[in-house]
Amino acid sequence: MEFNLLFLGEHESSQSDRIYNIANHTSSVALITDFKNDYVLLDTGSVWAQDKLLEKLKDLNVKPEQITHLALTHGHLDHVGNIGLFKNALVHIHACHMDSKTGLTSLYKDMHEKPLPFGIEVFPSRGHTYEHVSYFFDYDGLRYCFAGDAVRENHFTDKVPEYYSMERRLRYLDSARHIFESCDVIIPGHFGVIEGEQKTFLYKNLLKQEEEILKRLSIYDKFKYRKLLKEIHYRRKFLKN
Ligand SMILES: [Zn+2]
Ligand SMILES: [Zn+2]
Repeated sequence: MEFNLLFLGEHESSQSDRIYNIANHTSSVALITDFKNDYVLLDTGSVWAQDKLLEKLKDLNVKPEQITHLALTHGHLDHVGNIGLFKNALVHIHACHMDSKTGLTSLYKDMHEKPLPFGIEVFPSRGHTYEHVSYFFDYDGLRYCFAGDAVRENHFTDKVPEYYSMERRLRYLDSARHIFESCDVIIPGHFGVIEGEQKTFLYKNLLKQEEEILKRLSIYDKFKYRKLLKEIHYRRKFLKN
């Protein structure tokens, strides 16, 4: 099989009086295929990026109707804007998949499984949205994660946004930590590929942020989020030094 990163996501935003402007906004899109039986498209980008997507597929001699699976990270428009182009694809999103031809939907119990070709593994990376998932796969001796919005570089060079609730922040950092620890290369939904020294640098920042939040929790928070905190502490026990 071959892995092709068709393009990386862009995200330009500015804030004016009560309006959050987003321009040139699309997710990253990738294709995993054997050019024979299975063509898995990871996210589809926004409608704004449709021409670019069709051009990139054409460069690889792939027609939209040849795509067999759409592996979507979550339902935001910048990631699912072009699903209508792929009429023959089985759509995989959060806890279900949907057959485009019959309209039949089947529910996955939990998506920490391998329901896709090429051993692609689905990981529930909750935090950005509750139903968010990321996709792990092996290629050319390396482990990759197509992370979607579960990893945003600026959240680790700077901070996870203040408007995230405490639960959302904890889930987001927990998912992101798992992703950083479980692969060599991260392809985020927006901006550049994360690997090597940059990955180590961002991971350290992530751990620091998580530790600070865990340290500052009130008795009330500790009680309210006790189940989630138990899971987080369990997973943190396996941290590499
Ligand atoms: Zn996005
Ligand atoms: Zn999103």
